[in-house]
Amino acid sequence: MTATTTAPAMSEARRYQQLRAHLSYLKLDDAAEALPRVLDAARIDRLSLTAALERLLEVEVEAVEARRLAGRMRFSCLPEPWTLGDFDFAAQPGVDEKLVRDLATMRFLDDAANILFVGPPGVGKTMLSIALARAAVESGHRVYFITAADLAAKCHKAALEGRWNTIMRFFAGPRLLVIDELGYLPLPEGGANALFQVINQRYLRSSTILTTNVGIADWATAFGNATVAAAMLDRLLHRATVVGIDGPSYRLRAHQRHADTIRAAARAAA
Ligand code: ADP
Ligand code: MG
Repeated sequence: MTATTTAPAMSEARRYQQLRAHLSYLKLDDAAEALPRVLDAARIDRLSLTAALERLLEVEVEAVEARRLAGRMRFSCLPEPWTLGDFDFAAQPGVDEKLVRDLATMRFLDDAANILFVGPPGVGKTMLSIALARAAVESGHRVYFITAADLAAKCHKAALEGRWNTIMRFFAGPRLLVIDELGYLPLPEGGANALFQVINQRYLRSSTILTTNVGIADWATAFGNATVAAAMLDRLLHRATVVGIDGPSYRLRAHQRHADTIRAAARAAA
């Protein structure tokens, strides 16, 4: 008599333990942890079996998504937390807000199209690149950010250590590669060639965002090699959005304001 009343309870407890063990074995740790809570909710709210399972797996899916997002964010090496919301379009009327918002839909990634931000220092080229890169990370893409100088240095080191193919594969990998600050400093020995190879192997396959203070007409002289510059521009511009920013420097604006404040304070004190 006792056997028939306690056996189902025992097997229910054992089944619960089994289920938890299955979830842990499958590394569904967040679902395993949520199991008691979801089972309680299922009892109290009289959830259907389907609804309870859905709720349990939703916990795991959300946790996996959060981990992947954090992983992509770490991998991307974005140097600042900037988003498009931080960009003051009113302060930079030279930037077409509609165009930038269209780029932020990430449609350009489907066409393996490129974006070039061209303009003098301080106008927000890096900021817009980072904001778009972040939007790409958030919509699930692998992104990598590097300055042109660091890219050249990395490739140079890899070449010396016999890892040229590995580093080229690395730069071919991300769905979006941001190469920041081309032209600020002369590229080191072999730098233009490394940059060309990176651009060439990504051409028509995946998107690159490039920021530069060198007007396109001056690339040949800036690279010291007109042939490489022309070949690189050819590939970059074949499918590209060129955003020229020639407005006032935001950085200088801030300095200006700072100087004005100091002058006003000095006048008030006098
Ligand atoms: P660039 O890469 O063109 O030299 P940055 O993107 O590094 O310029 O911008 C320089 C500084 O000014 C950064 O701190 C950036 O956040 C700020 N900044 C530039 N443009 C804007 C803008 N339109 N709205 C808000 N901040 C801006
Ligand atoms: Mg910059």
